[in-house]
Amino acid sequence: MDASQKPHVIIIGSGASGCLIAQGLKKRGISFSIHDVVDPAKRPRNWSMSIYWAFPYFEKLLPKHLYERLQEALVRPHYHATANEKLVISNIQTGDIVKEFTYPYAIRTNRMGIRKLAVEGIDVVYDHELSGIEYTETGVIAHFADGTSEAGTTLVGADGGGSFVRRQLLGPRGEAQSFPDYEMVNMNVRYPLEHAKYIAEHVAGYVDYGVHPKGVFMMLLYCTAPDANDHSTWTFHIALTFPRGLLGKSLEGLSNSERVRLLKTLADDMTEPRRTILKHLPDDQVVPYDPIRYWVPTPWDNHDGRVTLAGDASHAISFHRGQGFNNAVTDCAHFVSAMENVATGKANLVDAINGYEKEVIERGIREVTLSKELTLSIHEWNRFLESPEIKYGGNDLRGLKQANATGEAIVSN
Ligand SMILES: Cc1cc2nc3c(=O)[nH]c(=O)nc-3n(C[C@H](O)[C@H](O)[C@H](O)COP(=O)(O)OP(=O)(O)OC[C@H]3O[C@@H](n4cnc5c(N)ncnc54)[C@H](O)[C@@H]3O)c2cc1C
Repeated sequence: MDASQKPHVIIIGSGASGCLIAQGLKKRGISFSIHDVVDPAKRPRNWSMSIYWAFPYFEKLLPKHLYERLQEALVRPHYHATANEKLVISNIQTGDIVKEFTYPYAIRTNRMGIRKLAVEGIDVVYDHELSGIEYTETGVIAHFADGTSEAGTTLVGADGGGSFVRRQLLGPRGEAQSFPDYEMVNMNVRYPLEHAKYIAEHVAGYVDYGVHPKGVFMMLLYCTAPDANDHSTWTFHIALTFPRGLLGKSLEGLSNSERVRLLKTLADDMTEPRRTILKHLPDDQVVPYDPIRYWVPTPWDNHDGRVTLAGDASHAISFHRGQGFNNAVTDCAHFVSAMENVATGKANLVDAINGYEKEVIERGIREVTLSKELTLSIHEWNRFLESPEIKYGGNDLRGLKQANATGEAIVSN
């Protein structure tokens, strides 16, 4: 890109990260296009995500009229967060609370809700799969699987944990890793009124973490609550991880009904409300099989600022510390600032993208490493009691120094 050129950003992926980048660029009058292989709104997968320390970046990225509607994207839009939001960790064999952390005014959104808000006013080109990247004298050309192409000054891969852009840049070193010894079930469940009301009334806090000494982690969260007064419309985000084979056989390759049947067997030595949650899983509940993925960032060749990564593409973080989206939003805000500096002539593209990536990679390495350690320790009771989650909660690393001696976690930034 030469000094006379105006930036044009090609965003790959229209998940929350891609859409937030688009909103931030639009707000600053910077030219962009955004592409996705499918319309994410058509995908059935939904789950909830805590927003702690990255919250201030939403104001920077979203236009005022959308920022003011953020409440609509929360798991319970009718509920207003208080100074006393708690992350509660309990022993789900005995019901004892192991630790509590306070996150004043922390909110929980769900993946589909935040994406629905973030895509408003953004024209995404759907059914447009990136299939190749070409570098030219003045910029970059994105090639799509349908044979079309587009030229820009910078391409940003916001294409998720299995990022195609990352793999193009790094080859096999860009492949996400998984934890072969553990299995994950991540589902969004709707119950009949009686059970839904009971579960809703017994979710322990803003985040309800349960750990069973035999190595089962089970997270219980609200996911959607379209009608505040009718619990039968609510859905609950239930995520479990456990040692492979704990259920007698791996869930991989089993039929859906067999997965449901095996999950129900876990209920027997769990305390309420988890016993009800598992015992009354609807027989037709879809139980997807997902690996727990991570990718530790390592520097890539950004071709003089022509190509970079953001969101899960730049650091796939295992979910136990609930940090992936907070880091993704931070990337989006920093990337938009970098492009703003280019557009206003405060920085050249090379320096702006190098500076952006240095921070993303350093932050990503720290967080992926810490989250990975928690993923490993959460299945071993004694090791878990010594883990960073127990010591510090889900704080951003920059906030750890602020965690006080009583274990109360202070939201950073
Ligand atoms: C169980 C669970 C709980 C979680 N809880 C939390 C939490 O509490 N707090 C938190 O901060 N984070 C949490 N996370 C992490 C969070 O969900 C992710 O960080 C976030 O959704 C990443 O969004 P993204 O836009 O970067 O990626 P994605 O949502 O994966 O979007 C990527 C998009 O790129 C598109 N794409 C892919 N390849 C191509 C291609 N070649 N061409 C065009 N488009 C392409 C895809 O179709 C997709 O729409 C959790 C994750 C899980 C699994």
